[in-house]
Amino acid sequence: STSSADADCLFCKIVAGHVPADVVASSERVIAFRDIAPQAPVHVLVVPKEHYGDVAVLAASDPALLAEVVALADEVAGELSDGQFRLIFNNGPHAGQSVFHVHGHVISGARLGWTPA
Ligand code: 5GP
Ligand code: ZN
Repeated sequence: STSSADADCLFCKIVAGHVPADVVASSERVIAFRDIAPQAPVHVLVVPKEHYGDVAVLAASDPALLAEVVALADEVAGELSDGQFRLIFNNGPHAGQSVFHVHGHVISGARLGWTPA
């Protein structure tokens, strides 16, 4: 873990291996694991190993790391489906964010409709 890891953060615990997860891919600074409640044939969460609260903070703090998140999402979609995917960041509780460690939802493996609300 890193000095920025939050002892009470679920995704920091997954990164540290203290909570089990179905890891499907990883790079030096990013990990990808299956969502526990999948909403599509492929539903994977792509998470920087370092703790940032949301995607806006990540983009402002380390844009290269955000680019690594997008690159790992692309890799996951290429390995688990046809390579096409939707990447969703819920930013803030009113947008549906429930875990406050930034994560991109990779949604893939089906023809996707558009019903965000
Ligand atoms: P959010 O609502 O913050 O955008 O997304 C959080 C996601 O984390 C949800 O889709 C939820 O199903 C998933 N999730 C919550 N707890 C766990 C867990 O313990 N393990 C895994 N793999 N996913 C989780
Ligand atoms: Zn965290």
